[in-house]
Amino acid sequence: MSRFHKLLVTDVRKTTREASIVSLQPEDAARFEFEFVPGQYLTFRHSSDEGEELRRSYSLCSAPDEGVLQVGVKKVEGGVFSTWVNETLKPGMTLEAMPPMGGFHQPFDTPAPRQFLAFAVGSGITPILSIMKALLTDQPQNRFALVFANRSINTIMFRDELEDLKNRFLGRMNIVHILKTGGDDAALFQGRLDRAKCDQLLAHWIDARAVDRAYICGPEPMMHDIAASLREQGLNETQIRFELFGSTPKPRRSAARSSKAPTTDRVAATLTLDGATSEVGTTRDISILDTALQNGLDAPFACKAGVCSTCKCKVLAGEVEMVANHALEDYEVADGYVLSCQAFAVSDAVSVVYEDH
Ligand SMILES: Cc1cc2nc3c(=O)[nH]c(=O)nc-3n(C[C@H](O)[C@H](O)[C@H](O)COP(=O)(O)OP(=O)(O)OC[C@H]3O[C@@H](n4cnc5c(N)ncnc54)[C@H](O)[C@@H]3O)c2cc1C
Repeated sequence: MSRFHKLLVTDVRKTTREASIVSLQPEDAARFEFEFVPGQYLTFRHSSDEGEELRRSYSLCSAPDEGVLQVGVKKVEGGVFSTWVNETLKPGMTLEAMPPMGGFHQPFDTPAPRQFLAFAVGSGITPILSIMKALLTDQPQNRFALVFANRSINTIMFRDELEDLKNRFLGRMNIVHILKTGGDDAALFQGRLDRAKCDQLLAHWIDARAVDRAYICGPEPMMHDIAASLREQGLNETQIRFELFGSTPKPRRSAARSSKAPTTDRVAATLTLDGATSEVGTTRDISILDTALQNGLDAPFACKAGVCSTCKCKVLAGEVEMVANHALEDYEVADGYVLSCQAFAVSDAVSVVYEDH
């Protein structure tokens, strides 16, 4: 069973000189599989010019009720896929993507009016734009404040769309632009969005005590600074939602870090995928995901860095150590879920299942 579906590119337009908005349409048979909740992402599969298979994730920036799948791709200096999208991709071409995944936004049980706050840095605006449009449309009393940090005014993705939304949701949506360089009326603040800046914003501009939930999306170190500032203002862990687009790589795991003394380096792994179970041999220094891939199993994956949750699986038996986790919630870990790209067997035998996302 292929996890990837063909999506027709119906439009590609620039939102800045370095970023494109790509509109996509699934084939009729797969339309249902591409229904999404705001804040989810698509994982694309693409062959580089050298024939290497690339997998890259991009958050949907459209809201579910807009009836279109849209992603915003910012060109990364030296980046293979983002450069190809910005320079080569044209309407009429097709992309291959897995159905939407991710749990950045969690729906609420009750429709009470709420106050939201979001921090976005650069292309981190994409899932937040989707969530913001959905929340402001769903409940006419919801309010949304956005702190959006960019290098300069020319690099602000969705600048016009954000202005239009401010007019459409008059009085319910606020934006603070923070620009690293260049003074302009658009920037209320200058410099980096760091801990000090965030403390300053929360002291003078945003009443964090009134905030029901905060969304944070951008580069890893900055996200931790913002979360620390929000915690100090009294927000608890369940009120702070993260989506990381990349992380600082951690050193590879060594066998010495295992919590149990291994009796042998060999591990018997039982892997269940798409309803079929395979019993394979592996070692403690090969991740569960690589064990599956090396044995010809089509396990889902994308970033291989513990940032997205594409490779999530559940441990049914045995013990594994997860060396990095920037995607799973505490309750998911407590329920036995791991990111298989970051999970290594600790016991002599392990059994895992990849569930349908
Ligand atoms: C859940 C999720 C959602 C995301 N959503 C978005 C989104 O909405 N919009 C968006 O723009 N991005 C998003 N991203 C980031 C995106 O997936 C890509 O990581 C990004 O576009 C870069 O991909 P690339 O192929 O262009 O770059 P890559 O080719 O992966 O390169 C990335 C960087 O590494 C450097 N590099 C590559 N190879 C080497 C090497 N061998 N040695 C040294 N340096 C090297 C490159 O120069 C470049 O600076 C998201 C990521 C995740 C995990």
